[in-house]
Amino acid sequence: MIDPAIITTGLSAISGSIDILKKLREMAKSSGPEMQEQIADLLDQLITVKINQSELLDKFRDMGAELERLKSFEEEKTRYQLTEVSDGVVVYQIKEDARKGEPDHWLCANCFEEKVKAFLLKSHNGTGSSTYMCNKCKTNIIVRYDDPAPKRAAGVRNRRFV
Ligand SMILES: [Zn+2]
Repeated sequence: MIDPAIITTGLSAISGSIDILKKLREMAKSSGPEMQEQIADLLDQLITVKINQSELLDKFRDMGAELERLKSFEEEKTRYQLTEVSDGVVVYQIKEDARKGEPDHWLCANCFEEKVKAFLLKSHNGTGSSTYMCNKCKTNIIVRYDDPAPKRAAGVRNRRFV
């Protein structure tokens, strides 16, 4: 991985070069216009390089933060399993042995595939079903309690009485 210090050092060198060029521009005022024009062009180019370098540093930092988020998600991902909670309706359910004191909960399968941890929260209790909504993408899922038992996730039967 690239060390961000390399980019920072590059920025310092560019800043130093710009300062030198500004002094040269002052000194060149007594010389002909061609020399002044060349120095002005060079100064413009260096300023452009400095701006590009700064943007590169920002992007590099953003990528580092995103990489950390993805690493964290990959670790978190192992705590969940894809579970069919109703006919054709899947969620990522926390594994029982990975709860660490947390209550049983579900994550949105759509968001999970985008590497985002988003909780499904119960939004409506109906007759024989409950609706859950993703707190990120706002997807609703309906869990019917009359689906065949083998497809039902552990704990769903109890949710009926919550
Ligand atoms: Zn979602």
